[in-house]
Amino acid sequence: MDISEAQAINNSTHKLSILPPSDPSTPSGHKNENQKVTIPGPPQEALFLVLAYLPVVELLAMSEVCTSLRDAVNNDILLWLDIIIDRPINWRLSDEILMKITSKANGRLRSLVLINCVKITDEGLQRVVERNHLISKLQVTSCTGLTPEGIVRAVKTLSQYHNSLKSLRIDGIYNFKKENLDILCSLLRMNPEAQKKSQTILYHHYSINSTTSRDKVISDRAIDVDLCPVCNEVRMVFDCSRETCKRKRDQPYSKCRGCSFCIPRCEECGGCVDEEEQEESVCSDILCSQCWLSLPKCSFCNRPYCKRHAYLQCSSSGLAEWICDVCHANTITNSTVTLNRACKVLSLAN
Ligand SMILES: [Zn+2]
Ligand SMILES: [Zn+2]
Ligand SMILES: [Zn+2]
Ligand SMILES: [Zn+2]
Ligand SMILES: [Zn+2]
Repeated sequence: MDISEAQAINNSTHKLSILPPSDPSTPSGHKNENQKVTIPGPPQEALFLVLAYLPVVELLAMSEVCTSLRDAVNNDILLWLDIIIDRPINWRLSDEILMKITSKANGRLRSLVLINCVKITDEGLQRVVERNHLISKLQVTSCTGLTPEGIVRAVKTLSQYHNSLKSLRIDGIYNFKKENLDILCSLLRMNPEAQKKSQTILYHHYSINSTTSRDKVISDRAIDVDLCPVCNEVRMVFDCSRETCKRKRDQPYSKCRGCSFCIPRCEECGGCVDEEEQEESVCSDILCSQCWLSLPKCSFCNRPYCKRHAYLQCSSSGLAEWICDVCHANTITNSTVTLNRACKVLSLAN
C-alpha cells in the first residue's frame, strides 16, 4: 500500500460518523489547539452497500446508529428475505421478536434459519409461516421449544399455498416419530427410499461444520433427519466411511449405518469403531486406532485432542511440545499446593 492510498483510507475512516467523536481534550486535561473537532455527517455511501452482507444481529445494531441507517435498514425488504438467527442472540429470541424481525420481509421471506432458539414456540412459528407463504427453506435445528406436531402444522400451512418449501432441517427436535416424518415426506412430495440412495452423510463431514454450514454436507436432501435402521428413532443417520463398510452399502442392510447413539464413530475419519478399538482422547471424542496414532499427543498424559478441539492445546511459544488443558490445570493446582506447603514449613521453622 503506498502513502497516498493509506492517506485516502485514513481520511475516509475519519468521515465515518459511526466512529465515536474524538475527545477534544488531551489526556492532561488541556485543549489541544491543533486538534480538529470532527463534526458528525451523514454515513458514507459505501456503508449502505455493506448492509446486504450483514447478519441480522449487525443489521439491528446498524439501525441504532443514526436515522439514515435506521431508515435504510428498515425500508429495504431485500435485507430481510433470508433470516438467520444464531449465537449470540438466539437464546433471547422470543416469538414476539421473531414476528417483528420477519415482518420486515413484508410477507416475502424466502428462508428462515433458527439455530438453538429455545424460546420459539409452535404458535410463534405458525404465525410467521401464515404470513410468509414463500418460505423455501425452513431450519429450526435444536429449537427445543418446538414440537413435531407444531412443525408438521407449519409445513402443512406452507404446502397449502405455494408449496415452495424445498428444504427442511429439524435435527435436534425432541420426540419425532416415524408417523411425523412420513407426513413431512408426503407434504414435501419426496420419496424416503430415493433420499436414502441420493446422498451419503458421513459423520466427520457433518460434525466438523458449524450448524449453519452443515447444510453443504446434506445439500441435496429435502429433510435432514431419517429413520435410524438400528433404533427406529428419527435422527441424523450416518453412513460409514470405512472402505470395507462402503462396499457393503449396496446391500439392503448395512450393519454400521445408523445414528450416533447406535453406532460409535471416529471423530476424525467417520468410520465405525468397535468398543475394543476405541482410543482415549483428552476431549472424550471417540477415535479409531489409526487416527489416534497420527494425532499429536500431550507431553504429560500422552492423549491427543481431535482436530476440532486442538485449539485447547497449551504450549510455550517456540516449543513444538504441548500439554492438554486437563494436565495444565493439574500442574497449576499442584504447584499452588506445593507453594502453600513450603510456606507452612517456613512459618513453622520460624
Ligand atoms: Zn439409532
Ligand atoms: Zn479414525
Ligand atoms: Zn462401518
Ligand atoms: Zn494431558
Ligand atoms: Zn474432540
